[in-house]
Amino acid sequence: MSNTLDDILDFNRNFVESGEYAQFFSNKYPERGLAILSCMDTRLSELLPRALGLKNGDAKLIKNAGALVNHPWGSVMRSLLIAVFELRVSEIMVIAHYDCGMRGMSADGFLEKTAEHGIPADRIDTLRNAGIDLDNWLTGFDDVEDSVRHTVGIIRRHPLMPTAVTVHGLVIHPTTGKLTLVVDGNAQTEAERP
Ligand SMILES: [Zn+2]
Repeated sequence: MSNTLDDILDFNRNFVESGEYAQFFSNKYPERGLAILSCMDTRLSELLPRALGLKNGDAKLIKNAGALVNHPWGSVMRSLLIAVFELRVSEIMVIAHYDCGMRGMSADGFLEKTAEHGIPADRIDTLRNAGIDLDNWLTGFDDVEDSVRHTVGIIRRHPLMPTAVTVHGLVIHPTTGKLTLVVDGNAQTEAERP
């Protein structure tokens, strides 16, 4: 049995009692007016903010597998819009990373694993028959830079996204933290905006 929960609760008691939290004080409005969509990869947990020079309170950070917007009306897009309209965000960065697990992910490989974990095949058939497009939903991307361009495009063209919001696309190296700029939102002229 894992003791992760107990370990974390013990640590937390000390953290709060010792007043260690004081160094993280900030409010809900991001100091840099920035929202970042990135990947849940554990190598980025501390590396990403450190490599960007961001401290607690500087940016809204939204993470999922692959730094993707799968659906224009899904939770990621909603979070970005809330960041813009409710939390004074004026700049968005999509930051995917090299060596991402979503690169090359296929529905077939994923469904083999669901079978190994005891999910019955007839349940998968039922979902498909109900019109759920598992193949599309479970497919990752082939090229991380193309994926970032695509995601930036979805955000930028969203009908509720104000044209004044700048949307950039970058890829971070998961070991060195080096950033590669893929889409410079500042370089886009007003005419190119939707
Ligand atoms: Zn990833």
